[in-house]
Amino acid sequence: MEKIIYLDNAATTKTAPEVVEAMIPYFSEHYGNPSSIYSIAAESKKGVEIGRKQIADVIGAKQEEIYFTAGGTEADNWALEAVAEAYKNKGNHIITSKIEHHAILHTCQYLEKHGIEVTYLDVDENGVVKLDELKKAIRPTTILISIMFANNEIGTIQPIKEIGAIAKEHGILFHTDAVQAFGQLPINVDELNIDMLSSSAHKINGPKGIGFLYIRKGVKIRSFIHGGAQERKRRAGTENVPGIVGYGVAAKRAAETMKERTEKERELRDYLIERVTREIPYTRLNGHRTDRLPNNANFSFQFIEGESLLIMLDGKGICGSSGSACTSGSLDPSHVLLAIGLPHEIAHGSLRLTLSEETTKEELDYVVEEVKKIVERLRNMSPLYEDFVKAAKH
Ligand code: PLP
Repeated sequence: MEKIIYLDNAATTKTAPEVVEAMIPYFSEHYGNPSSIYSIAAESKKGVEIGRKQIADVIGAKQEEIYFTAGGTEADNWALEAVAEAYKNKGNHIITSKIEHHAILHTCQYLEKHGIEVTYLDVDENGVVKLDELKKAIRPTTILISIMFANNEIGTIQPIKEIGAIAKEHGILFHTDAVQAFGQLPINVDELNIDMLSSSAHKINGPKGIGFLYIRKGVKIRSFIHGGAQERKRRAGTENVPGIVGYGVAAKRAAETMKERTEKERELRDYLIERVTREIPYTRLNGHRTDRLPNNANFSFQFIEGESLLIMLDGKGICGSSGSACTSGSLDPSHVLLAIGLPHEIAHGSLRLTLSEETTKEELDYVVEEVKKIVERLRNMSPLYEDFVKAAKH
């Protein structure tokens, strides 16, 4: 098979071999239910608690503040719905941004049907939430601010410390969707005043279907999945023991390799951005130039369709994305690209490339050459481009 160049690490990552290795005994030997009392069950319980500790350590949390979920989506749903219910005597207003993941936006829309008022903050042209608008949006009834740590499409990192400080000053809870940031950026929940944080293992070389919600001690929050007494009665269901074990190993590994890995990724990312924007005309970089995830590059090429570009790149063994994996398949342009002010036709011609620790300069050189050729071919087929060239000549 032709070599695959995988540049869609914001969609998901390859599970690391040491993660798989750590998980295997929990399928074969330590398969007991952590709630049972015999000794093989004690091994499972131990695995869960080690995983919890490894994860808590990465964000400076206490072990008992980590609640396992079935992924980032569940953690986001839980945070918003549970706060809306538990704090309904205090108020019914939530503040979020227009560029959140659909796990947040669709939950907000659901809550709006049930009496919650939501303010969706605008962002600037780089995708950064405006702090003065955030302050202005606060009402006496505001119970929660939920702003993502870093955006999954354009990679922009939000001023989380400032947002945390504003929330604290007003006595409002602060939740952040850190699905893209956990393991990529240093996070300390105390220093950043974060009360709740969502994360997901499969974005950091861990397994799919396991995530967590960090809930600061003292935050009132009801259970979301009803049933048994697992997760201190807050999240019922037999624990995904191999998943939790794998997540713990992946989190520890991500924290230990973060500095070196992200330095290398940042350098390659900047090389890619520099070459693409210099060598391909009518191209723009989406997202903040420097305050962006170390592995994220997102471009818009005028006069082309992102979907066609993706299909042709796939033919060359290159995996990228034209928006988030969840929105691809739909013809609507990305809500994130529209929120940063791109017109529909430019938002349609976007390409997200997200690097991994395994990405090399040689791979990126190949990718740039292929993108250049394909963009040129697609433009030559575009009537809009033809008109543009004709008009430019006159
Ligand atoms: N939030 C963000 C920012 C994401 O990027 C994703 C996944 O792409 C999610 C939430 C959903 O996470 P999961 O796939 O674990 O449900």
